[in-house]
Amino acid sequence: MEYNLFIGIFVFLFGISVGSFLNVLIYRIPKNLNISFPPSACPSCGNRLKWYHNIPLFSWIFLKGKCAFCKEKISARYPLVELANGLIWVALFYKLGAVWYLPFIALSFSMLLALSMIDLEYYAVPDNLNYAALIFALIAPNFINRGLDALYAAVGFFLLGFIVSKLAKRDALGEADIIVAATMAALLGYPAFFIAMFLSAILAIVPSLFAKDTMVPFVPFLALGTLITYLNKEWLVSLLQAIMYG
Ligand SMILES: [Zn+2]
Repeated sequence: MEYNLFIGIFVFLFGISVGSFLNVLIYRIPKNLNISFPPSACPSCGNRLKWYHNIPLFSWIFLKGKCAFCKEKISARYPLVELANGLIWVALFYKLGAVWYLPFIALSFSMLLALSMIDLEYYAVPDNLNYAALIFALIAPNFINRGLDALYAAVGFFLLGFIVSKLAKRDALGEADIIVAATMAALLGYPAFFIAMFLSAILAIVPSLFAKDTMVPFVPFLALGTLITYLNKEWLVSLLQAIMYG
């Protein structure tokens, strides 16, 4: 127990550090900026951050959400992404235990978090992060089966998109949706994949009702549905079986 708590804290600290890097990806990739150079600077005054201004989660709290130089407000999005990623990593650690593939599954979910944040802002997601999520999802036991599950989902979504596009006479499912679906299938397998899809659709209904005329980004709901299903897979699958077979 104490041993698990110790690793849990370590995993959380590692998770918020990865979250800090996700903030760099979220900010720079849609703007086509280099992700490793230059070092982080305040977007308002341009002063380079010192290392102690750059400690995930804690610096934002100590600086009270303001730049140390110009006192301009720093968006709460930064610490929230770090916190969310830290919690995701800890939840996955308690779900899977200290297995060798934990970092890869966790990185796949981290990529889904970054994709969600980018989709919320730009209504589009970059292919490179999308493929990274898929590749990380495949680095785990039974990777051939995971690859096949991903392939079935990709082909299924491609055909579905093709049919819906013909019927509705407009583009229905893009390449990005197909890759996200493949990642979901690689992470979850079947029938959990369908549970996650169903859950994502339910979660997406609420904001769709409020935003009738504007687009609702779908990736955040897919990512959330996938995480909830992944963490509760066993009982959700037995619930589904109970509903289907009584
Ligand atoms: Zn500043």
